Amino acid sequence: MKRREPLTLWEQLYLPQVVGGLMVIIYKFWRNLTLHGLHVFGIAKNTRAAITVQYPDEQKLYPDNYRGSHRLTLKEDGSVRCTSCFLCATACPAHCIFIEAGEHPDPHVEKFPLRYEIDTLRCIYCGMCVEACPCDAIRMDTYVHPKIWGYKRADFIETKAVLINRSKVLAERGRGALLHDLLEEYKRLDNEEVRVAR
Ligand code: SF4
Ligand code: SF4
Repeated sequence: MKRREPLTLWEQLYLPQVVGGLMVIIYKFWRNLTLHGLHVFGIAKNTRAAITVQYPDEQKLYPDNYRGSHRLTLKEDGSVRCTSCFLCATACPAHCIFIEAGEHPDPHVEKFPLRYEIDTLRCIYCGMCVEACPCDAIRMDTYVHPKIWGYKRADFIETKAVLINRSKVLAERGRGALLHDLLEEYKRLDNEEVRVAR
């Protein structure tokens, strides 16, 4: 193994690194200030200045391949595609999918989930469940990030109804609707907390 050379006295002062870091900050500051100023007058519009997104008031659209919260996909008649085969639960490395299978009243459909729940506190959003599903019954294309607000474990359990509703909202109101609703929910809870604190 190669032995590490000890730092020289000049290196131990860290002065070049400190000055170098300051130069980068000063350069970025003036560059951004100048570009934003020019953009106000319609100049150099194609040169991008650094932008901080003021989340959650401003939102950036997630890319198409964003892996978001789960949803259960639906058939044309509005029923779940899931056949309770348990492949997703078996593939899940976090063991956070709970399925209770039931006999379907339609003799052409073998089984369906009476209960389908995901414990999002355990989920690592790996997508293995989506990969494992043979009938495209579960997807993570909701563009919604995991819920971060709750006071008890049950607040983070996504039930069959929640997972189905996401598919309905997506189909009826489009891609931005789920995130919009989630943020409205956060605002409502925030206001409630402020009221309780007063
Ligand atoms: S994303 Fe991964 S951890 Fe989460 S439910 Fe699916 S398989 Fe389990
Ligand atoms: S979501 Fe897919 S893999 Fe999971 S139980 Fe239903 S059909 Fe099987």
